[in-house]
This record gives sequence, C-alpha cells and structure tokens, in this order.
Amino acid sequence: MRNNLATAPIFELSKKGRRAATLPKCDVPTVELSDLLLEDVLATSPPPLPELSEGDVVRHFVNLSTLNMCVDTHFYPLGSCTMKYNPKRHERLARLHGIGDLHPYSRVEDSQGMLQILYELQEMLGEIAGLPAVSLQPAAGAQGELAALHVASAYFADRKESRTKVVFPSSAHGTNPASAALAGFECIQLPPSSNGLVDVEALKNAVDEQTAVFMVTNPNTLGLFEKDIAKISSILHDVGGLVYIDGANMNAILGITRPGDFGGDMMHYNVHKTFTGPHGAGGPGAGPIAVRSFLADYLPGPIVTKTEKDGQPYFELSVPPKSIGRMRSFFGNVGILLRGYFYLRTLGSDGLRKVSEHAILNANYLRTRLEELMPVPNADRCMHEFVASAKKLKDEKGITAMDIAKRLLDYGFHAPTVYFPLVVPEAMMIEPTETESKETLDAFFETFKQIISEESERLHEAPESTSIRRPDEVSAARNPVLSWTACVKD
Ligand SMILES: *Cc1c(COP(=O)(O)O)cnc(C)c1O
Repeated sequence: MRNNLATAPIFELSKKGRRAATLPKCDVPTVELSDLLLEDVLATSPPPLPELSEGDVVRHFVNLSTLNMCVDTHFYPLGSCTMKYNPKRHERLARLHGIGDLHPYSRVEDSQGMLQILYELQEMLGEIAGLPAVSLQPAAGAQGELAALHVASAYFADRKESRTKVVFPSSAHGTNPASAALAGFECIQLPPSSNGLVDVEALKNAVDEQTAVFMVTNPNTLGLFEKDIAKISSILHDVGGLVYIDGANMNAILGITRPGDFGGDMMHYNVHKTFTGPHGAGGPGAGPIAVRSFLADYLPGPIVTKTEKDGQPYFELSVPPKSIGRMRSFFGNVGILLRGYFYLRTLGSDGLRKVSEHAILNANYLRTRLEELMPVPNADRCMHEFVASAKKLKDEKGITAMDIAKRLLDYGFHAPTVYFPLVVPEAMMIEPTETESKETLDAFFETFKQIISEESERLHEAPESTSIRRPDEVSAARNPVLSWTACVKD
C-alpha cells in the first residue's frame, strides 16, 4: 500500500521555508538581485520551486523510482523491444574519466582514444551486418530507418531514377511506414499471408520499376525467420530496388547469419535493444545504419576514418562526399554507442553467437510450455520471440490479452507486448531474451496458468497492486498532459 506522501507530485509536498540544506551565515554584503545582470523577471518573480527537507526529497525520488517495473527489478518479456539485462560493468566503463568526461568540442588530436573506439565500433557493426559502410549518427532505430531511406532517395536521384514507392509486409513495425512517409515515399503494404511470412507471389505483384525499397524485419515481428529472404531480395534487385533490413531483431541472428549475406542492402541496429544500451521511457537510444559500399557516399556524417600520422594510426572525422547530411548533433548518442562497444568487446564473436543461440532456446522453451495454455499461430519453431493468441480464451472465458497483461503486473512480471503485430488476434508477443534463467521462465509459465484460472470479472479489474491501474491509453496518447500545473486552492 502507498500513502499519498509517496505518490504526490513534489510541488504538492512543498512547505514554505522548508530547506534541504543549511547554509552558513552570510558574511558578505547583501546585494540587490536586480542590480545584477539577471533578467528582471527572474529577480522579481523567481520560479516557484518546491521547498522540502532533504529526507522528503530523497524519499520522493526513491519512491518514484519504484513505481515502475524495470529489467533490474522484474522479468520484462516485452516482445520486439529486447529488454535484456544491461551489464553494470559497461556502465562503469562508459563513465571512465577519459571517456565519459570528453567534451564533444575537443580537438580531433585530443580525442584519438574516443575516435578509435567509434572507428572500431563502425568496423564491428559492418562485420556483423555483412554491410561494410557504417554511420553511427542516427539516435534510434526509427531515425536509422529515416536516414537509410534518405540515402536510398539520394542514390536513386543520383542515378536519375524516379522511384516513389516503399513496400513492406503487414507485420511491419509501425515505424517502417512512418519513416517511408516522412522520407516522401508512397507506402505499399502487402496483404497478410497465411503462414506469417512474406508472400513471395504477392511481393512479385507489388514491386516494379517504381519501387525504391522493400523494408523487412528478419526474423520478422512474429519471431519467424523469413526463409525465402534470398529469393525476396532477388525479386527486389531484379527491378532495381533496394532491400532494407529492420535490424531490431538482430538478437536472434548475431554471428549466425548476416543481413548482407541474405540480400539486404541497408539496415539499422538498435544498440539499446541488441547491444544492451539501457532503454525505456523513450530513450536515449542509438540506431547506427550499415549499407553496401555503393551507398557509402550518401551516408550521414561525420563518420570516423582511419589514416596514419608519423607511422601511427590516426583517426579523423569526415563527411561522405554525397552525404545526406547530419541526423544528429556531434557524433550521435555516444553514451549508448559506448555501452554497445563494450558489450561487443566483452563477448567477442563466439560470445555473440551464444547470445542468439540462448535467446532462441529460451524463446522456444517458453513457447513450448505456453502452447499448453494458448495457441501460437504459425510457429512450430520460433527465433528469439513468439506471438501467442488469447483469442480462444476470449471466446471461451471472456479473458483478453489485455486482462492477462494487466494481471501479470500484480504477480511481479512486466507484461508482454500486446495487440501487435496486428495480424494475430489478441496477440501476446513474448521475448524472454537470453539473460533469463529456466527458473524465471517456469515461474512466468506457472503465473500465466494461475491467471487464466481466475475469474474473468476479477481480471477485467486488474491490476490491483499498481499505483495507477488502467489508464485511459487513448487519451494518454492523444492528449498527453506533460507538465504539472498548480491546482488553485482556496
Ligand atoms: C523497436 C523497433 C523499431 C524502432 O526502433 P526505435 O529504436 O524504438 O526507434 C523498429 N522496428 C522494430 C521491429 C522494432 O522492434
């Protein structure tokens, strides 16, 4: 139970004159604020900051930090998001003085260590992708998509080809069509297929000389590997189009196969998903892109290049000759890129492959157990995640995917992604990740079983134990109230 001292906004806890610090007695002459170079408004009406004791402040923020679930406190099987454990060692390394305190305006000759790290990261990401040219600029997966689509536009414009369409399957993540529309393309969605994979015939019919890019996530958002991906790629290449691999699901294929090897021409990474940048609540992220050599000149810059000076390796920043421009200030979200770099260096190539093998094993273990309770359409085997359907439970017992998701919170599990992808009714998209133990997966299964044995009326009211129960999600998305306003009290 929480009392309102624990959940009230800090402004409402304020008491005039209360202080968190005791300042020494003033021993310098008093000066009128308005005599200083302060804005008049600051001097005459300072911002209404809350006044609290140190204890109140500490309790307020510590309590706030416990209101939500996070990977450090709970199992977080949020499909598509790869919420895996973020090793604390990389936090420490990213904060080392010579790294964390480097000013982004430092001179190139004074930043050689950092530039070497970023250069090596470019090289590693190029190798893992099988696509050699890398830009670390984009700040998130979605921005990587946008950057790559601008690269494609610039490439086709250079070739005097007018291509106006971007095609994607119906299971595509919402950012794919959003990025394509923002980059000025017309969006063509393929009809849903019966087996959850791209329908090769439908794709053939949908693409032509107007098609610029086919965007595909592999493994796709149902957790299925697009086994026809090589054929799919040649269909695109035959009409002169490009294949974009949405790399959000790289957690399933690291060191096993590479987008460049199965026909992709461009891709993004989500460093905050695959390579353990801590994420949630909208950021920060990093969405580097990797492309084939013939697209390298269009990449957003600067990128790090390696030369030689006095017989020693020397790193410089350069902007590709036909660059689409910047996506981000400075060199991208370096703080997140660093965590990705340390993760890659810690694991090495053998370790990376094991990441994916364990992610696949965990997902298949949990899928096989949960299939006792809920069907998993189209999956006799999955990659790193799977999508179960609560449709039967809804029809027979009135229990929806949302009810189960909400009730899981009462039992100390973060909910899986629900109602995505749209092609599965009452979808529950579950991604256990490689960092969970068999005990956790078993406990999750047992909880699921317990929940669906409960009365549906009770489940409609869940969660019972969280500080906010069922928010109005539509209003929260459409009319967000993002700042606190004083309520006038008489
Ligand atoms: C997360 C995700 C994205 C978008 O990435 P952000 O880093 O959140 O912008 C795109 N596609 C898929 C399949 C994703 O799961």
